[in-house]
Amino acid sequence: MKLRMRVSMTIALALFALAGFSPPCAADAGAAAPDWSALDKEGLGYFQTYLRFDTTNPPDNTAQAIAFLKGILDKEGIETSAFESKPGAVSLVARLPGPPDKKPFLLLSHADVVPAVAADWSHPPFSGDLVDGYVWSRGAIDNKAHGIMAIMTMLALHRGHVPLRRGVVMMVNADEEAGGANGAEWMAANHWDAFDPAFAVNEGGIAMPDPFGGRDAVFEVSVAEKRVMWLRLTAHGHSGHGSIPTPDNPTLILINALARLLASQPEIRLTSIMSQALASFAPHEAFPTSFELGHLGWPFVLDAALRGPLEPTFLQALLRDTISPTTLSGSLKVNVIPSTAEAGLDCRLLPGTDAQAFLRQIKNRLADDRISIDFIQKPDAGPISPASGEAWDAIQAVVAKDFPGAFAVPWMTTGGTDSRFLREKGVPAYGFVPIILDESERRRVHGVDERLSVENLNRGIKATYDLTAMLCAAHQ
Ligand SMILES: [Zn+2]
Repeated sequence: MKLRMRVSMTIALALFALAGFSPPCAADAGAAAPDWSALDKEGLGYFQTYLRFDTTNPPDNTAQAIAFLKGILDKEGIETSAFESKPGAVSLVARLPGPPDKKPFLLLSHADVVPAVAADWSHPPFSGDLVDGYVWSRGAIDNKAHGIMAIMTMLALHRGHVPLRRGVVMMVNADEEAGGANGAEWMAANHWDAFDPAFAVNEGGIAMPDPFGGRDAVFEVSVAEKRVMWLRLTAHGHSGHGSIPTPDNPTLILINALARLLASQPEIRLTSIMSQALASFAPHEAFPTSFELGHLGWPFVLDAALRGPLEPTFLQALLRDTISPTTLSGSLKVNVIPSTAEAGLDCRLLPGTDAQAFLRQIKNRLADDRISIDFIQKPDAGPISPASGEAWDAIQAVVAKDFPGAFAVPWMTTGGTDSRFLREKGVPAYGFVPIILDESERRRVHGVDERLSVENLNRGIKATYDLTAMLCAAHQ
């Protein structure tokens, strides 16, 4: 009996402590909850219209799509501004003001999309057709749904007259798919004051099946990105007639040097962010994966894990600096030895890798002075957002509230997003889109037949509202 009392007291205390860690929930508050079914229906209509604007980048013409979103907010009396970085490349900022002494929470998305070859699609790629519960269109997942979740959140907070202890800003950028020079990077450089947030959520971190086989879906919430370093190698030699092979044929110089460089990838290096990310999976996995992921700091465990759960190449790309040869060019004519030959290398650096030292290693492995190297793109500093603090806790809380059977871990992505322009300015930015996809749905992103279920759109609208209310609503 005594033991039972102790156990129940412990449980009660644990629950109490847990409740103390989670930000309180706005839905329990005095403000009336939104009428979800009306909001979802309205959101679906906006989503379909938004998708019908062809915002393919290049040429990155977002003007009409942004005008459409702006019109919805303007009609409602929500403060908006549009910014044009070059003709047609327009970004939007909308704001629900909060107390001036507190920086706002930013809901970030992008309006541009990658190209689609219409002939390959089951439904035209800018149709916004609703078929079998799915809305079909390029941009349905990447990243227009996220913009609609933000806009519906703004509308619901505004219409509900929800008092705010922190302002809410939404920004929809041009040019994300081409690197952001005319979108987020340009906004950060020229109009920072228009949004200047405390923290942000952005694309990335969709709930997916657990890559280690656990039964719960996982949000890999991006807190960091590998750093892009693109290099051009140029081999210099002597031109001549292809009928007479020469040792200083630059094409030959280049392929031999590339073979030396690429015989193996750089060494595995477990960074603190990946150590933390993988350890976060451990409690959700079966033995021995659970043990291995929780003890990667021990070299023999890391060794075993690299031949086990960490064997897939997409995971190993997060555990080392990587080099992918991508472009190659030499002579324009088959019987002409050129005077130069070029190769492009897509290198992705881990946080903490010294770029100059990495470049020296590349030079040493190429081992040929006839090859010069220049930067196509230099790596940034690669700051990491903390997997702790107000925004992080709210993401954890909204996953617990709206996605039973899912969990969230901090993660690093191999690709880049607009989040880096915020992180560079010291603003924590989290890749978190509250929808659940399986692998076959995810593969449609940047591929053929991209689509999003209405169910996912609806759960995304609710979870985005809940997250924003947790962080910004005054009464809890
Ligand atoms: Zn995207």
